[in-house]
Formats: sequence, structure tokens, C-alpha cells
Amino acid sequence: MPIRLRPDINTKFHIDLKWWEKNNRDIRVYMRDLLCDECREVFASQAGEGVVDWVDPQTGAVTQEDALWHTVGTCCSHKPDYITESTPIIDAIFLTFVANGNQPLSVQELYERLDKRPPEMILRMLTRGQTYLGLRPVPTDEQ
Ligand SMILES: [Zn+2]
Repeated sequence: MPIRLRPDINTKFHIDLKWWEKNNRDIRVYMRDLLCDECREVFASQAGEGVVDWVDPQTGAVTQEDALWHTVGTCCSHKPDYITESTPIIDAIFLTFVANGNQPLSVQELYERLDKRPPEMILRMLTRGQTYLGLRPVPTDEQ
């Protein structure tokens, strides 16, 4: 096991997909609720499975990406009601990771994107008590 230092506002977090597996919860079911009306219809008719080719705008590399993550990231997360004033901060953090394809972000970076609560408060929410929606620090050996 890697030694994990006490998380601070520069510690990177992400959605730990192993947490979802361990808890027998399917993140895809949860993510379907994040689809906008148009995408919901598309996914309902196609069953929404499969992968899409995705071209990295920086490197030009083509990777296969899960269609559901891709759709939320490129379409639904840009809708004005994806994250609203009334979205609880912890849910807004989860939605931010879904939107960016689960790229690790530090509390400081989350704070800059969301501008809802001071970083120290976000850190406390993410580190106190039970894991919520798999939001966890990225293991140090994966950073
Ligand atoms: Zn959409």
C-alpha cells in the first residue's frame, strides 16, 4: 500500500470507480439521470451502450471512450441546468468529474471551477465521514 499523506487542498481527487463496484452500485444508472432530454431519447432508443472514437484535441490521438461518459461530457454537462445554484456542493463536485471524464482535480481546482464554498470546507466535505458517490483522493502512486 502506498503511504497516503493527509489530504490537503492540493491533493487530487476523482471518482473512484472501484468504490462503485465494491458497493454494488452502477455509476451508469446514475449517469443516465444526468442526460439532457435529447440525449435521454437517443440513449433510450439505442440502449446507450458501446464506445465512440474520441480525438484528443491536443495530441490528435484517437481513443475509444464510453459513449455515456462522452455524451455527458460533450453535450449534457454544457446545459445550463447541469449544475445550478441549488445543486449541493458535493453533487456539483461529482458532476464536475463526470463532465471532465474523471480527470483528477485538487480541491483548489474544484473551488476555482465551482466557486461555491471555501476550499477548506470542500476538503472537509470530501474527507470527513463516509465516501459519497466514490469521491476519493487519487492514490498517490497513480498521480
Ligand atoms: Zn445531452
